Amino acid sequence: SDELLDAAASPMPVVSESRSESRWSDTRSYSMKKKLQSWFQLPNGDWALGKILSTSGAESLISFGDGKVTKAKSEQLLPANPDILDGVDNLMQLSYLNEPSVLYNLQYRYNQDMIYTKAGPVLVAINPFKRVPLYGNNFIEAYRRKSMESPHVYAITDTAIREMIRDEVNQSIIISGESGAGKTETAKIAMQYLAALGGGSGIEYEILKTNPILEAFGNAKTLRNDNSSRFGKLIEIHFSETGKISGAKIETFLLEKSRVVQCAEGERSYHIFYQLCAGAPPSLREKLNLRNANEYKYLKQSTCYSIPGVDDAEDFRTVVEALDVVHVSKENQDSVFAMLAAVLWLGNISFTVIDNENHVEAVADEGLNEVAKLIGCDIEALKLALSTRKMRVGNDIIVQKLTLSQAIDARDALAKSLYACLFEWLVEQINKSLEVGKRRTRRSISILDIYGFESFDRNSFEQFCINYANERLQQHFNRHLFKLEQEEYIQDGIDWTKVDFEDNQDCLNLFERKPLGLLSLLDEESTFPNGSDLTFANKLKQHLNSNPCFRGERGKAFTVCHYAGEVAYDTSGFLEKNRDLLHLDSIELLSSCSCQLPQIFATNLLTQSDKPVVGALHRSGGAESQKLSVATKFKSQLFRLMQRLENTTPHFIRCIKPNNLQQPALYEQGLVLQQLRCCGVLEVVRISRSGYPTRMSHQKFARRYGFLLLESIASQDPLSVSVAILHQFNILPDMYQVGYTKLFFRTGQVGVLEDTRNRT
Ligand code: ATP
Ligand code: MG
Repeated sequence: SDELLDAAASPMPVVSESRSESRWSDTRSYSMKKKLQSWFQLPNGDWALGKILSTSGAESLISFGDGKVTKAKSEQLLPANPDILDGVDNLMQLSYLNEPSVLYNLQYRYNQDMIYTKAGPVLVAINPFKRVPLYGNNFIEAYRRKSMESPHVYAITDTAIREMIRDEVNQSIIISGESGAGKTETAKIAMQYLAALGGGSGIEYEILKTNPILEAFGNAKTLRNDNSSRFGKLIEIHFSETGKISGAKIETFLLEKSRVVQCAEGERSYHIFYQLCAGAPPSLREKLNLRNANEYKYLKQSTCYSIPGVDDAEDFRTVVEALDVVHVSKENQDSVFAMLAAVLWLGNISFTVIDNENHVEAVADEGLNEVAKLIGCDIEALKLALSTRKMRVGNDIIVQKLTLSQAIDARDALAKSLYACLFEWLVEQINKSLEVGKRRTRRSISILDIYGFESFDRNSFEQFCINYANERLQQHFNRHLFKLEQEEYIQDGIDWTKVDFEDNQDCLNLFERKPLGLLSLLDEESTFPNGSDLTFANKLKQHLNSNPCFRGERGKAFTVCHYAGEVAYDTSGFLEKNRDLLHLDSIELLSSCSCQLPQIFATNLLTQSDKPVVGALHRSGGAESQKLSVATKFKSQLFRLMQRLENTTPHFIRCIKPNNLQQPALYEQGLVLQQLRCCGVLEVVRISRSGYPTRMSHQKFARRYGFLLLESIASQDPLSVSVAILHQFNILPDMYQVGYTKLFFRTGQVGVLEDTRNRT
């Protein structure tokens, strides 16, 4: 195995390979030798460790730990690392960086509850799906004192704090990964660390309490995750000059509101509904005429009411307590619960046919009564809003009766709007409580917990938006870790062979180009009176077929080649979801309510209009609220987000889900590999290793280490001093480069200088 170690000492050859090839085949130059440890690919795609017994031509004989011997073609083999590299805490330290070696290293650590590993500068976190003894005050203290240095969310958060103070630059911690990979838990762990280090003002306690609130209102059980966030979140935490937390601001992205009226078998609606039904005290139950969850149609449809290990009633008390902490008054809390009950009762409203043209009318049943009572409107007005639609014909307003499906749509649209408005309003209240002074400082740390790339059997508008967001975030990641890094080398004039990386600009162009991009075409079609999902799909095929990232499919479908893989989207419902219209009738109803919240919601809904407007010419010709399309709103929110992130020093955490069963101690190689490929972890390691991650200006280097020089030198200019230091410490030429303004070092090189400096 000494041969392998020697291979590690010489710099890696930098090869660019196409995506389709095995990208980690630093093996092309690897010749099969007897006795070498080697990875052998099994028919199911997994890799097994074996030892080469003999080789002849392109074939080798290998033996496995269990005594089995098999013949292998050389393309089935990849070199394995020597045992002493088992479980290294930064993948950069691996001699061989092929996929099985990386997978094995992560698994080796995972099996010992070391769920965190560095991949160059990126932290990889593998979901343990169980409690691991890595958190709490003792660990926080150890990371703060730097007596513990193994990779951890605490360590990365600590770095963020230090860099914020040292450089006076805002920081960001960007967490990504699939649903169920552990983003939200990771964000909370980072917040815990920030609160511990920046605590004292009391505001840190409020910040931590926003988590149970937002999770109650924005998380739900899905088939992938019992506590899945159905919105994206950025929390910006501000610090005072003394390093104490001074306030925070939360921004949320694209809440999945369809879940309120519709969710799949085995999934649930938002936690708060079940918490309310299970945990409301008797007085509140009576006031809201609350029933059990299984008596509300919106909750009943998925036949799933509880989550193993979760006590909804107990969680309700936690939420109420948290609302108290963030200063939502008892009165406002009561209004919030009334709105929730109103949403639930809306689902129970039924309709009856009133004429032979299939027009319907809302039945004056318990549902209708309760909703009217809870939002404070006239029963007749509610009935009318749900059964008719005012239309403008010339100068006249006529009233059109609705069919059953139109009426159900109107009812569901009202329920969704009420809930989405409630969510936004709640976030606003929280922000008021955490308010940061007006003065912008350069001392903030933002934590981004946003949905990862999604690819299901059927992908709709939600996946379309989510994957677009991920495309943007991936570009940000690329820019920072590949582009900016390499540009810096080139700018400083050092010898450098460019490393290729997957640039996703083409795909972003496909989304963003005007007027012929996915988003523009979607908005255009959404404003056409006769636009439909089919005409939209056809228009895409007509205009975008030449784009390499696009492929038209049969019927209403199209495929996008995302950086993380191909996704086929079904355009059914795209236009409706993008328009997201609430009938003016419903908005008028809300503004007529005697309760405060519906009135606020109505005002917010009406002031959301801005250019470009969709729906003004909506097919029905009905009076609609004029508002931004969902895609446009999301895009501009995303641009603002990217702008903000661009002004921060980013720290990346990639969460990985080791299995789809949410179970501990189960590590599926194929699943992990696919995620590692998706998020560019392997490329990062490669570039970090072949690059020069440590850099220092000539001046700084000379100042910092100059006093260690044993012999005085003729010239005192920083570069001469620096070179003399390098010679004295025998740092090999391969290990550093001298740029115009800076010295660049490979990993680990400055360590010996620092050690000597600290000893002197
Ligand atoms: P989504 O995109 O659906 O919101 P997510 O990436 O936010 O998913 P989490 O909700 O953070 O995923 O994690 C899913 C579950 O995994 C948690 O409820 C918890 O049970 C477990 N989990 C995640 N991280 C950890 C951890 N560090 N320690 C223990 N359990 C964890
Ligand atoms: Mg989450």
